[in-house]
Amino acid sequence: MILLGPPGAGKGTQAERLQADFKLAHISTGDMLRKQVADGTELGREAKGYMDKGELVPDEVIIGMILQRIEEPDAREGFLLDGFPRNESQADALDAALRERGRRLSGVLMIEVPDDEVVRRLTGRRVCVKNPSHIYHVELDPPKHEDVCDQDGSRLIQRDDDKEETIRRRLEVYHGQTAPLIDYYDRTGLLRRFDGTRSPDEVHGHLRATAATLRLEDQL
Ligand code: AMP
Repeated sequence: MILLGPPGAGKGTQAERLQADFKLAHISTGDMLRKQVADGTELGREAKGYMDKGELVPDEVIIGMILQRIEEPDAREGFLLDGFPRNESQADALDAALRERGRRLSGVLMIEVPDDEVVRRLTGRRVCVKNPSHIYHVELDPPKHEDVCDQDGSRLIQRDDDKEETIRRRLEVYHGQTAPLIDYYDRTGLLRRFDGTRSPDEVHGHLRATAATLRLEDQL
């Protein structure tokens, strides 16, 4: 399955929950890239310039990385893509790769949130320095102790690309390059839409119900 939606829609938070519900591998290209940056690899150095500006990292880098990842053992029973595909050529590459492997998408879960809400959410977002899928918000979902992760006690930080100017650019890139995927997947009947302005629990409930139905349909 794919989780689609603008930055700050809650894809990472929801992917974590769905991963626990369905034992799917959670594959976040953003998290994979940030790890490469933190590890100081060549790929990380190349990617960082794009990420800090809110631009997409070149397709060659991303597509190779993701195709390798979906081959790993934890993804054999299924996976949840978060942050990929982000344009039509990535979507085409994914389609072709799945077809070659005799696999297919069960569904595309689209979380919708207006731009103003995205800006409000991302400027206040803080992530765990050790595990970036532990996510908080200074007003909406504060940790128990300021700047400390409730789950593992690590320090919380603001992502470099969560500064307001970069968020505006990420939104432009989303509307220009990623939003066309909504039609792309709607045409194939895979798209399901969710109101991402609801509480995280409500969104999770709706996503979980749909994901369960899609899985059942796939097993028939
Ligand atoms: P995210 O955490 O998904 O918001 O991703 C953070 C940044 O990583 C993006 O702004 C891009 O620079 C880069 N990135 C993540 N996923 C992709 C992708 N599928 N294609 C190109 N760039 C990506």
